[in-house]
Amino acid sequence: LAEKAGHNTYEIISPTANVETYKLFSLRNELRHAFHNDQFLVYYQPIMHAETNEIDAVEALVRWNHPIWGIVLPNEFIPLAEESGLIIEIGEWVLKTACKKLRSWHDAGYMVKASVNLSLIQFSQIDLIDIITSTLQENDLDPKWLTLEITETAMLEQKEKVLKKIAQIRALGIQISLDDFGAGFASFKNLKDIKPDILKIDKSLVKDIPSEQDSTEIVASIIQLAHRLSIQVVAEGIETKEQKELLLKLECERMQGYLFSKPVSEENIEKVLERTINTEIDPLPFQEQRA
Ligand code: C2E
Ligand code: MG
Ligand code: MG
Ligand code: MG
Repeated sequence: LAEKAGHNTYEIISPTANVETYKLFSLRNELRHAFHNDQFLVYYQPIMHAETNEIDAVEALVRWNHPIWGIVLPNEFIPLAEESGLIIEIGEWVLKTACKKLRSWHDAGYMVKASVNLSLIQFSQIDLIDIITSTLQENDLDPKWLTLEITETAMLEQKEKVLKKIAQIRALGIQISLDDFGAGFASFKNLKDIKPDILKIDKSLVKDIPSEQDSTEIVASIIQLAHRLSIQVVAEGIETKEQKELLLKLECERMQGYLFSKPVSEENIEKVLERTINTEIDPLPFQEQRA
């Protein structure tokens, strides 16, 4: 940053900006080595049937446990992994890790679904569908237990190709979830073309309800729109009881957010599953844990 701006501007750049630049540089350089040396982890966050407090699904969210930086969040390294193409390997690993876990949860009697995020780059992987199919088979899982989350930005390039693969995935019986709806384009045309099974309302819209009237109207309209198209709705980023109450009133049946549980390590998600499914008590909120 300092180089680009010229040497006269050096002193106005804050020390934290320099740390950020250094961190980005370090993460970019170390990404591949770190992935191949087991520094990656999958955390899990429940998606709730809010009315009954039952867990419908568990979303897999990747983390990088860096020796210096600590737990690095995906927004910091997924773009780097997409740049280098490494996201294809990471995405496959997350899918396999989550499906293996799902098998063990089912064996323990926790009949939840798994939800895995897919990057646009993964649609260029020639054997994507084969990998998904074989992963399900290896773990003896019916495709109905798997949801794949895609974002609309994933639609900008090579739309036809992506749509064809999405149709193939759905034909297998896997559910498709349109993630972060309302954060970016939220185009009706995309909604119609993708025909997702599930629509996830972005947390940026949920953040301002119920206090902001406009946000509330927008969220209410999205829920109605989805239901009219026979699409199920998940609202993400629920942090308060007020948000939950309003969303229930708006007939949003499924919710995800810190109010229920933060994303947690694989050991801790088993405790969340146990508490939620075997008892009637509130599932926490659970704190995100360092590895
Ligand atoms: P996402 O798929 O929309 O996941 C939801 C994000 O919202 C997660 O951030 C989660 O920790 C956060 N979140 C959940 N509840 C709340 C809440 O109540 N309040 C707030 N403020 N945030 C909440 P996370 O784990 O940092 O992941 C960020 C994004 O990185 C994900 O957004 C997803 O797009 C991407 N990502 C994560 N794992 C993977 C992966 O395995 N593959 C790919 N391609 N992308 C991934
Ligand atoms: Mg997601
Ligand atoms: Mg999302
Ligand atoms: Mg997001």
